[in-house]
Amino acid sequence: MIPYGKQDVTAADRDAVIEALTSDLITQGPRAPAFAQALADRVGAEAGVAVNSATSALHIAVAALGLKPGGLLWTSPNTFVATANVARYCGAQVDFVDIDPATRNMCAEALERKLAEATRPPDVVAPVHFAGRSADMVEIAALARGVGARIVEDASHAVGGAYAGRPIGCCAWSDICVFSFHPVKIITTAEGGAALANDVELVDRMRRLSSHGVTRDPALMSPRAGDPPAWVYEQIELGFNYRMTELQAALGLSQLERLDAYVRRRRALAERYHALLEDMSDAVLRPVLDSDRSLSAWHLYVIELRDRTRRDAVFRRMRAAGIGVNAHYIPVHTQPYYRRLGFKDGDFPVAERYFAGALTLPLHPGLTEAEQDAVVAALGTALGDPAAPRD
Ligand SMILES: *Cc1c(COP(=O)(O)O)cnc(C)c1O
Repeated sequence: MIPYGKQDVTAADRDAVIEALTSDLITQGPRAPAFAQALADRVGAEAGVAVNSATSALHIAVAALGLKPGGLLWTSPNTFVATANVARYCGAQVDFVDIDPATRNMCAEALERKLAEATRPPDVVAPVHFAGRSADMVEIAALARGVGARIVEDASHAVGGAYAGRPIGCCAWSDICVFSFHPVKIITTAEGGAALANDVELVDRMRRLSSHGVTRDPALMSPRAGDPPAWVYEQIELGFNYRMTELQAALGLSQLERLDAYVRRRRALAERYHALLEDMSDAVLRPVLDSDRSLSAWHLYVIELRDRTRRDAVFRRMRAAGIGVNAHYIPVHTQPYYRRLGFKDGDFPVAERYFAGALTLPLHPGLTEAEQDAVVAALGTALGDPAAPRD
């Protein structure tokens, strides 16, 4: 099976992990903070915290911004469930803003309309940089800030991408930006995530929330006469254990060195798909390519079948042919958990229509051109094959 995504692990990665494993500190050492700062430096943010998943990073991000019971987060329905779930972890409500059919990202016009009609504004707006391409952050930030909302970018797909001449993650149009390092993403730490910001107090707050809400900073602790003994720490709020291990951080630091090469390779493969699929453009809608304004990290290459009734049959044919196609994303509001909260089919019709035709083709740095040719050939067969009927 040619997988839709796959990590690339080199000898240098293995050496880095073994070095961390045989060092004195295998957690709470220098590597996790160094990885967070290397990421921040790489994308032009002030600081960051590395944690055990992007889900954890999103959770501490919205918690640090004060999301709580009675609060409200708006995100895109075209995302992994985690972006919405973190608001529920805080006891807050979730709502969605429909997508732009071309970019598959939160649509700024839809956000503007929804804000105009809303009985209350959201506390947090969380756009998702789907497939590695930034949402229209200039427009979204202007609208969200206009109603006093805070902004968290879910850039799980997008480390290594750029927007408006700045690296994704610089937080020029957001309060916090989150990356994921799950193995299918651009760089990996096995499991892992990071949250970056330009406000260092916000980063301190997220770091504290990632480690039990505990501090050793005398300025934050109860007043006492003289210097506190070294054993003193105080839990000043309710936090979690979301820490990244030194093994993961060592892998991340090593992977980060190849970030540019990975994104270059992904972009070349995406452009090659675009050319190879030209002949099928009667049947297949291709994703928009990069522009001066937007350089995707190309986490995913998702086509849409113009005849949406054939998607499942084509999907099955390709899986049977050994092609690990996928489909991103089942609109979050149609998940049973969110239906129980009152959402229903038809609530976000652009996302639903997009997903009905969506087919994710394999894309990762280790994908060979021969494998890519096999993917395209299998797609052509599945589309032309009467065994892939309109069902
Ligand atoms: C992968 C992903 C997440 C969750 O990342 P984890 O590191 O697996 O917790 C969140 N949002 C989006 C859009 C993702 O793709």
